[in-house]
Amino acid sequence: MKVAVITGASRGIGACVAEGLAADGYVLALTARSQDDLKKVAERIKKKLGTQVPQVVTCPVDVQDHKAVEATIASVKSEFGRIDLLFNNAGIVKLGTVDEMAIEDFDKVLAVNLRGAFSFLQAVVPIMKKQRSGTIINIASDAGKNGYAGWGAYCASKFGLVGLSESLYKELSPYGIKVTALCPGWVDTDMAKVSGLSTKEMISPKDILNTVCWLLSLSPAAVVKELIIDCSESIA
Ligand code: NAP
Repeated sequence: MKVAVITGASRGIGACVAEGLAADGYVLALTARSQDDLKKVAERIKKKLGTQVPQVVTCPVDVQDHKAVEATIASVKSEFGRIDLLFNNAGIVKLGTVDEMAIEDFDKVLAVNLRGAFSFLQAVVPIMKKQRSGTIINIASDAGKNGYAGWGAYCASKFGLVGLSESLYKELSPYGIKVTALCPGWVDTDMAKVSGLSTKEMISPKDILNTVCWLLSLSPAAVVKELIIDCSESIA
């Protein structure tokens, strides 16, 4: 039995990865704030896979609430006994130039995208260390590698996540735990509506799923620190 925790699983990239991993037989703990949306994803998986469906639990939690994150991971551990994959994906965007953005908005983006990711890492890492196995995929962004006008808060959060991910990659390598920062360009979800690009101009959430499946298929000796997936329309 393989157990995956997916944050930001209620829609977009997280929901797509959840559906794909369920089809591969993963037991899933789906997290996001909206229990209704998580339940819809779980129902969709059950409808698609019928009797072959692995266990799917929904865990509504705000990544900003560290105690609630700890309790969520403790309950996943007590129910399934292990965690093999953390798909650390929950995130938000708030746009604004440095002089225009409210400090509260800057704090919020950092609190969700960086501190929230750290919170899940802190809860999951001790479990994986004890197992001496596991895979962590942190969903950063192309905006974690390049700065863009009006995207300062988001870029700061994603550059931070790339740095955190690289540090963890080094900390956890002696334990046989793989850590990858995944840095995609525009992916066709609600979040990318601001891009004005059409579906066929963007990376598909299925491309992210396929990348995750590829990472999971590699031999223990093959470790991928960082993966950048450009959206061809955005290459300047
Ligand atoms: P999305 O469709 O807007 O989904 C975001 C997910 O994060 C939702 O499940 C949302 O669920 C969850 N979330 C937001 N705030 C949360 C909070 N405070 N606590 C818990 N969960 C929270 O966006 P997406 O495109 O799938 O993005 C997923 C990740 O990929 C994000 O980290 C994003 O930065 C990154 N990314 C996206 C793109 C893109 O072009 N779409 C490109 C590169 C990287 P609830 O609202 O129910 O909480």
